[in-house]
Amino acid sequence: MAEEKKIVRKNIMATREMGRIMTECFQELDQAAKTGDKKIAWCTSVGPAELLLAMGFLVYYPENHGAMLGSARMAADLIPHANALGYSPDICSYLTSDIGSFLTGETPLKKAFGVETVPKPDVLVFNTNQCRDVKDWFGWYARKFNAPLLGVHTPREIGEVTDDHLHSISKEIEALVEPLEKISGNKFDMDKFKKVVALSRECSELWKKVLETAASTPAPITFFDGTIHMGPAVVLRGTQQAVDYYKLLLKELEERVENGVAAVDGERFRLYWEGMPIWGRLRAHSELFAGLETCVLASTYCNSWIFTQLDPEDPFKSMARAYTELFIVRSEDIKEKYMEKMIDLFKIDGIIYHDAKTCPNNSNNRYGMPQRLEEKTGVPSLVINGDLNDMRCVSDEQTKTNIEAFIEQLEENR
Ligand code: SF4
Repeated sequence: MAEEKKIVRKNIMATREMGRIMTECFQELDQAAKTGDKKIAWCTSVGPAELLLAMGFLVYYPENHGAMLGSARMAADLIPHANALGYSPDICSYLTSDIGSFLTGETPLKKAFGVETVPKPDVLVFNTNQCRDVKDWFGWYARKFNAPLLGVHTPREIGEVTDDHLHSISKEIEALVEPLEKISGNKFDMDKFKKVVALSRECSELWKKVLETAASTPAPITFFDGTIHMGPAVVLRGTQQAVDYYKLLLKELEERVENGVAAVDGERFRLYWEGMPIWGRLRAHSELFAGLETCVLASTYCNSWIFTQLDPEDPFKSMARAYTELFIVRSEDIKEKYMEKMIDLFKIDGIIYHDAKTCPNNSNNRYGMPQRLEEKTGVPSLVINGDLNDMRCVSDEQTKTNIEAFIEQLEENR
């Protein structure tokens, strides 16, 4: 039987600096919402943020708030408020918990950043590259605030990304400029846009390097650390603060690699996490795996904010490429090739697929991928059932039993 060890959590020193820049960001949004001195755009997490920043908006990301509701384990109490309005318990639990949060006035922003409420939007901008739920989610708020709703309609299940895809999506992004000029009162400035795209690209390159430190043995960072430290890549990409932050974090992790410091002491097994985090169980899962001397060290999820295709010399088209070549947008065969690359790069012993009840878009176990990949690569996998935010879908006992049995299987196969 796989035995659990007592856990010593290793803090990442840069966390404090991340807290500072994230607080600064939310307080600036709060201030702007109160004074009206800057316009605020709500944006989906893989939406056209660079354009919004270049147009002078402060950008707020509701999915980040959704993840905070999950981590703070507030979501289960809030979801029924959205269900009562006709938003099904089976759809995205970021959406339902976020709307529930708005209806009740309960938000983790108070405790985390001293901010009482989410900032009122002047415009809401989505990209359907990840799912349709984001459009419905933003649509609810657009009606609530009587604010304009704009968007990019990216098709999904894309195989090869063609020039036709890039042409039509970049034209959709460009078409946002005119309405955004009217809402912001600012003229579009190509030089400013290029600068933001360049900063976003630099942030992505650094974030990629941070994640790839986990290719070392032992890995200096876990997937669970990554879900926390990806904050600036999501909400501050396109800014100097994010670039500076990832330089700091990368330096610390490179020092760990140099000194052989493991994120999980006695690392015996190296796992890949496919799917959404289970936000309300991050700590519990991190301790469970560490207790089994197993490091979950890489994931599709954290990799999803790497946009190294961005090119300041061709900002519209490169944005279209960066936001369309994403894993979540792609067909099954492209996803499998990507996973094979990750298995090699990170020297993966096993894969955990999280089948998230309310997010089919990020649950890649449902059409035979685990079986096909195992056949091709010989790397075994385990599917765990759960959800990103709705902890009523999570069975802790069953998850623990299944993970322990999986680690035993890995031991036996050695
Ligand atoms: S991808 Fe999934 S978790 Fe993200 S907004 Fe869409 S349904 Fe929700």
